[in-house]
Amino acid sequence: MSELRELYQQVILDHNKAPRNFREMDEANHKADGHNPLCGDELTVFLLVDGDLIEDIAFQGHGCAISKASASMMTANLKGKTRAEAEAMFEDVHNMLTGKGEPDGERLGRLTALAGVRDFPTRVKCATLAWHTMKGALEGDPEVVFSE
Ligand code: ZN
Repeated sequence: MSELRELYQQVILDHNKAPRNFREMDEANHKADGHNPLCGDELTVFLLVDGDLIEDIAFQGHGCAISKASASMMTANLKGKTRAEAEAMFEDVHNMLTGKGEPDGERLGRLTALAGVRDFPTRVKCATLAWHTMKGALEGDPEVVFSE
């Protein structure tokens, strides 16, 4: 395993073991459930949005290490961002995970730890679930279900 690969692995393991913002949020004004039947990942994403600003974001649920780490990293990255920034980051992450173009390392920061997932096509949906669910929540779509 390369050094970089090992670092990626560590970031994912760390977020899985100690997920950030892993809680229910009663005051949330946007919320959606995401389900990836391929793997059994189930997440709920909560957002507190004030005007254009994501004041708070949290998630709950259960799933594999990749789905949980991705959700954890997502919440850590989107807190305090605008809707437009969240949408742009969704695009970046989606492109990175589906192998469309090179990820913008500067903008994505530690999220690039997820890039290795694209070598495992069956796990890509694990990593994108939280992001699609977040987008659904922002757009008023309360349920995001991936097809098998
Ligand atoms: Zn999974």
